[in-house]
Amino acid sequence: MVSIHRVKPSYSDVSKKKNYRDYKDSLKSDFSGCCGYCGSPDFVFGGKAGFQIDHFAPQDKFKHLENEYSNLIYSCPICNRGKSNKWPTDDPNIHTKDDEGFIHPCSLEYDDNLMRNRDGTIDANSDVGTYMIHVLKLYLFRHQVIWIREELRELIGQVKLRIDESSELGQKYNALTAAFYEYDEILRANIDKR
Ligand SMILES: [Zn+2]
Repeated sequence: MVSIHRVKPSYSDVSKKKNYRDYKDSLKSDFSGCCGYCGSPDFVFGGKAGFQIDHFAPQDKFKHLENEYSNLIYSCPICNRGKSNKWPTDDPNIHTKDDEGFIHPCSLEYDDNLMRNRDGTIDANSDVGTYMIHVLKLYLFRHQVIWIREELRELIGQVKLRIDESSELGQKYNALTAAFYEYDEILRANIDKR
């Protein structure tokens, strides 16, 4: 089992902005273009435009945290909609109560509560983790499909470095990787400019 995220998200030092929406580019970069909760890359949702900004402690309940950078999560629409304005307490710093609540994706605690299996499915290691899987719909099949595709991409990239390109198998392999990366390029290239 591994972490939900391929690259652990963490906040860089960004200059203060008046509107949380102006942080989107910084969030995309700090979250490596992936949803903080489920780890899906944004290109499968149409790029940055298809992704949303989630308020970890909901802005409905904690207005003073609306533009606080460390309270913002780069989020896919499914996780953001699932989480909505749910929060287990009246205190933005108390994020769990009994068996319910949320763990901040940038914290190490996140990986203690939720994990990724080899087949791409997501499992909980705690009751709060189970609650998050339910609320954020981390059980959806699409999370597995997206993860497996990314795994294949990484594996192809690793083998490419070692293959003997002069052999017949090598040439077939090259044709396969060329097709894969051409397809991959269509999905990723300039997606935020469309
Ligand atoms: Zn997500």
